[in-house]
Amino acid sequence: MNFFKIDEKLEALDKRIIEKVRPQFEYIDAITEYNQQKVLSSFIKHKVSAVHLGVSTGYGYDDPGRDTLEKIMAECMGAEDSLIRHSFASGTHTLTVALFGILRPGDKVLVLTGRPYDTITGVFGIDGESDGSLRDFGVEYHEIPLLPDGTPDINSIRSELAWNNYKMAYIQRSRGYSLRPTLTIDKIEELCKAVKSVSRDTVIMVDNCYGEFVEKLEPCDVGADLCAGSLIKNPGGGIAPTGGYIAGKKELVEKCAARMTCPGVGREVGATLGLNRELYLGLFSAPHVVGESLKTAVYSAAILGALGYEVSPEYDEKRGDIIESVTLGSRDAMVAFCQGMQMGAPVDSFVTPEPWNMPGYDDPVIMAAGAFTLGSSIELSADGPLRPPYAAWMQGGLNFHSAKCGVLLAIQSMIDKGLTRVRPQSLNF
Ligand SMILES: *Cc1c(COP(=O)(O)O)cnc(C)c1O
Repeated sequence: MNFFKIDEKLEALDKRIIEKVRPQFEYIDAITEYNQQKVLSSFIKHKVSAVHLGVSTGYGYDDPGRDTLEKIMAECMGAEDSLIRHSFASGTHTLTVALFGILRPGDKVLVLTGRPYDTITGVFGIDGESDGSLRDFGVEYHEIPLLPDGTPDINSIRSELAWNNYKMAYIQRSRGYSLRPTLTIDKIEELCKAVKSVSRDTVIMVDNCYGEFVEKLEPCDVGADLCAGSLIKNPGGGIAPTGGYIAGKKELVEKCAARMTCPGVGREVGATLGLNRELYLGLFSAPHVVGESLKTAVYSAAILGALGYEVSPEYDEKRGDIIESVTLGSRDAMVAFCQGMQMGAPVDSFVTPEPWNMPGYDDPVIMAAGAFTLGSSIELSADGPLRPPYAAWMQGGLNFHSAKCGVLLAIQSMIDKGLTRVRPQSLNF
């Protein structure tokens, strides 16, 4: 490499890996091309112009940029309607608005994909939290645990829904920080069919975080009624500085809008403060940026796999999200890996991440994140709790060429500390 100090053997391995992943990269390019055309054609259909990139203040009535972007986002998500707003503070906030928008006291919700993502458990009030949780408002929570292989238990789901009246069935597409396989769109379709075959009126909601534009279709294309996600992940394209979206059936999106602002006012307000341009540019870039993140994940799986680490998914497995996990096996390796990755970040490359006791986690957590947007995980980042088996979850990469440097520097950092080495047999496959 011209500008970074990388061992010759690691450089040789990099060249082999780039050859090895060529078929996967071609596959990713085909998905990117399809999704990029989907987004571009929607922009053209809705005659996006300079007017849409303008600023609204105050109540934000009649903001043509905001209203048109919501039509475009709906089409991109295979849905009838959508809300896409910078005023959603996070993915969790967006999902919360959707849940409270649909569920009413006395309703029951069934989670089909085991224990949900950490920050969502408090929204449901699963562990008895009641300060404003759904539980506090009288919404009953049930979940169907995953099967031992980490896949949804379709038989139990079917019988639970056949015997009990559920207002909502909730699906989490991405694995989050678990080691279960991510749901592919085919699997989501199978789940939606199973739900509707026994309980036609149950609303199917999907936590779509990290899944947008990874495949050609989205959950609402295959039977989901509602989905939601974060703009500092896939659909913000690394450009949206904050925000979230909800997409789905028109009458459900209207209910969410009433909860997002106020009943009777709904989506008609919400000043965009000059962020329209970034949300448009971000959505426009999203298919490509997701492709770059997927290439980074595939490359990481291949190179770390060649070095003998356990990775998930494997480099040639079908993917449903942009996350890659790697089991580094020791505390030292995990710290060295994250510190090396940080050295390759475009922002804050000179800081050294250290493990810290993050609120809500039992073990110290280490994070490598040198991003233009704080907390953005569509930008290259890696983190994980410092406990056996010392697995790091990595995701993102705004462009593959830069993200590859981050990954190589992470490996180089482990080599420098004598924690791994490129064996001759790693080069022969
Ligand atoms: C990121 C994520 C969320 C939302 O997290 P925020 O940090 O609040 O944006 C929810 N579910 C899953 C599966 C996620 O990956």
